[in-house]
Amino acid sequence: MTSIPDNLLEQLESDLDTRFANTRRVSGGSINQAARLESEELGSCFLKWNRSDDSDMFVKEVRGLELLGAGGTELVIPEVYDHGVLDDSTGYLLMEFIEEGSAGKDSDRHFGQQLARLHQNRAEQHGLDHDNYIGRLPQSNTQHDNWVDFFVQERIEYQFSIARERGRLPSSLHQNFQNMYRRLPDIMPEEPPSLLHGDLWGGNYSYDINGTAAIYDPAVYYGSREMELAFTHMFGGFSSDFYRGYESEWPLEDGFQDRIQLYNLYHLMTHNNMFGGHYGRQVERIVQRF
Ligand code: ADP
Repeated sequence: MTSIPDNLLEQLESDLDTRFANTRRVSGGSINQAARLESEELGSCFLKWNRSDDSDMFVKEVRGLELLGAGGTELVIPEVYDHGVLDDSTGYLLMEFIEEGSAGKDSDRHFGQQLARLHQNRAEQHGLDHDNYIGRLPQSNTQHDNWVDFFVQERIEYQFSIARERGRLPSSLHQNFQNMYRRLPDIMPEEPPSLLHGDLWGGNYSYDINGTAAIYDPAVYYGSREMELAFTHMFGGFSSDFYRGYESEWPLEDGFQDRIQLYNLYHLMTHNNMFGGHYGRQVERIVQRF
C-alpha cells in the first residue's frame, strides 16, 4: 500500500488549517484508496482518494451524505470535513472516522426502524435533481412521476444500453425486456418517492461504538423503498430483527418477497456492467422468463 501522497496531505492541512498525525492506510472499498488520520481539531478522520477521470465522484458522494444527514434520523452519517480535486486530478474526500463497535441487543431493530424513518423523507417525483454514481458506473436520476417509468427508463434501460456498448448482454434480450416492462405496472406497487441510501448492502454500514448503525458510501435518490429493502437481501448481512424494526415503523406491502428479484435486476445489471461473469447469466435467466 502506498502512503498518502504528500501533495494531498499538504492540501488538507492548508484547507483545514490543521496538522495531521498518525496517518495510516486502511483497506478501503473496491474503488478508492483510504487512510485514517488524526488531527487535534477534528479528531479521527477517514480519507478516501482516487486518481481518476470521474473527478465529480466525491462531490456526488458529499451531496448524498448531506441529504442522508438532513434526513432527521438517529442513523450515524459521517460528517464531511473537506473534498476537492488536486492539480494532478486526484480527487479526495475527508470525513469523520466512524470507530467500529459491536451490535448491541437492540442495534439491528433500531437500524431497521431508523431506515424506515429515513424513507419517510419524501419528494414530489422519483429521481433526484442531479445524477450520481453507483459504484464506478454513472447513475441517471432523471425525475419521473411514476415509479415504474423511473425504474424502467433510468435503472434498467440505462444499464441495458451500457451493457450493449460493452458487449455484456446480447441484443436478443431486447424483446424480453420490452415484455417485462409491460408487465411491471401489475407487479410493482406505486410506492411514494422515498429518500434512499441507494447502495445499502452489508459493506456500506457498520455499528459504531454505541452500537448505532452508521451508513456511508451512498448512491442517493428518491424512489420506491422496496428497491432499498430488496438490495439488502442480495448479499445478505441483515438480520430478521432489522426487518422487524423496519416493519414496526412502516409495514411493507404484501408480496414484497416475490418482487425482490425484479428490483435486484438493477444491481445485477450494474455488477454485470462492472464485473461481467455470472452476473450476466443471472440477468439473462430473470429476463428470459418474460
Ligand atoms: P469505496 O468508495 O472505495 O467503496 P467505502 O466508502 O465503501 O469505499 O469505504 C470502504 C470501507 O471503509 C467501508 O467498507 C468501511 O469499512 C470503511 N469506511 C467507510 N467510511 C468510513 C468512515 N467514515 N469511517 C471509518 N471507516 C469507514
